[in-house]
Amino acid sequence: MSDCLFCKIIEGSIPSTKVYEDEKIYSFKDINPQAPVHVLVVPKEHICCANAIDESNADNVAYIFTKIPAIAKSLGLTNGYRIINNCGDDGCQTVKHIHFHILGGTKLSENMG
Ligand code: AMP
Ligand code: ZN
Repeated sequence: MSDCLFCKIIEGSIPSTKVYEDEKIYSFKDINPQAPVHVLVVPKEHICCANAIDESNADNVAYIFTKIPAIAKSLGLTNGYRIINNCGDDGCQTVKHIHFHILGGTKLSENMG
């Protein structure tokens, strides 16, 4: 999508600090980290949000979760981490290309809301 920030990051026209990349997914450091380690993982396919996951694209979303353990390990997250997906306005999703936050490097707050 031409007007999507994360599509532009994936194609390289907007710079990012890459953490991991393969043919299906891209991972990069969040520009405004909320924890000592804060990265985003996105499918290269433009999927707007969790509400748009369906049988045609679910494999790309599931694939992200097969790679998160290795990404977390590469970031030194040996004592656990949190995965967050914000969906829609009430979820405070600001970038409409589905992404999973990986947060860690410290004991995180128990407050999820
Ligand atoms: P969300 O609020 O779940 O949509 O998360 C969007 C995330 O993207 C926020 O944590 C932002 O800090 C992050 N972000 C926005 N622009 C950039 C960028 N250019 N590079 C890296 N992360 C970004
Ligand atoms: Zn996109």
